Amino acid sequence: MAQLSDDCFAFGGPMMSVDEAVDLITARVNAIADLETAALVEADGRVLARDVAAPLPLPPFTNSAVDGYAVRNADLPQGTEHALPLDGRIQAGGLAQAPIKPGHTARIFTGAPMPPGAETVFMQEDVRIDDAGKIVLPPGLKPGANVRPAGEDIPQGHIALRAGQRLRPQHIALAAAFGLTSFDVVRRIRVAVFSTGDELASPGEPRTASQLFDSNRFMLMAMLRRLGCEVSDLGILRDERTSLATGLKQVAGGHDLILTTGGVSTGEEDHVKAAVESIGSLVLWRMAIKPGRPVAMGIIDGTPLIGLPGNPVASFVTFVHVVRPTVLALAGALPEPLLPVPVRAAFTYRKKEGRREYVRVFLRKGQDGALEVTKFPREGAGLLSSLVETAGLVELGETVMGVEPGQSVGFLSYASLI
Ligand code: AMP
Ligand code: MG
Repeated sequence: MAQLSDDCFAFGGPMMSVDEAVDLITARVNAIADLETAALVEADGRVLARDVAAPLPLPPFTNSAVDGYAVRNADLPQGTEHALPLDGRIQAGGLAQAPIKPGHTARIFTGAPMPPGAETVFMQEDVRIDDAGKIVLPPGLKPGANVRPAGEDIPQGHIALRAGQRLRPQHIALAAAFGLTSFDVVRRIRVAVFSTGDELASPGEPRTASQLFDSNRFMLMAMLRRLGCEVSDLGILRDERTSLATGLKQVAGGHDLILTTGGVSTGEEDHVKAAVESIGSLVLWRMAIKPGRPVAMGIIDGTPLIGLPGNPVASFVTFVHVVRPTVLALAGALPEPLLPVPVRAAFTYRKKEGRREYVRVFLRKGQDGALEVTKFPREGAGLLSSLVETAGLVELGETVMGVEPGQSVGFLSYASLI
């Protein structure tokens, strides 16, 4: 399991900036070293454990990029069109029987290997066939046109994929193009997930008049799965220090990360802090982020624990900024910084300096065709509808004090976050 030294999340100030928190996580979390093999069809979303060097060049042989007629450069028409007799026909998957004869052209199809000696291909749309059956080639084509040289995409031996890459469909395509059948990947990060709160009931179970159904646990588990984690659903822990401590301690050994939601504020019924302190160590880590300020990070028997706030929107936003980089670091994945895209604000907003805020926004095309964002009308961190109805978050940095219509702001779509 991942080992963390007890002081590794110690920090100086009372409120840590989001960037400081992410830097700390990525610098101090030890990556899991256990590897396994993933077949191509199973590899989407996994983290590559070793560099992949190209075992063959891509394309593997020089071939035609179009359907047309191949010639030697010495036979390219100069100044005026030129009729050449046909010599040979090469289709994709075929091979020329002999080098192309000087003064001739060969019928060739997209993806077919160039006949030896031929260096340029005319597109079939650019030629005509005369009454004698000769191919009339126009002047002015550049030598080497419409040919894909061997290795032009990737030369043999080139490091084509880096260890730490989170595999997406295009990376899988590349491995397949190399003829590989599997990848060496980091084993899935094992995450234990708990909700905390006496007011919570699990969907499918009875709910008393003062309870609400637990939604965060299912959101967090879905987000973790998107990050490639193996998730243990450990249900709901009651708001009571001893049972919280027992529940957390039980899972510490068998997981790489423990994730809880709720109970991390400073209210009398927020017991996560005390529970963690009783069985491990905790640095209560108030992050300068809205929504989400209370976030706890601790270590129990060497296993990191992250305690997210209970309000669903706060839970979502802090997951993205704290859990996501932690999981990526545990898996040894290359950092994937979130890069907001500039869009035009079509709303007014006031904010406090010194903390980062995320505003839930709708995305639309303005009258001039430019993308603009409008704010969800309400602000509560408990409004699940705000996450469901909007397209993403506008990031307002620590030094920003407000937004005026027409201003450029950074937009993060939900799809880019997770
Ligand atoms: P807490 O952080 O425990 O003080 O909870 C803050 C708010 O979030 C309260 O209104 C809780 O009822 C709500 N809440 C806490 N946990 C969950 C959960 N797992 N699903 C939905 N709402 C929750
Ligand atoms: Mg609670």
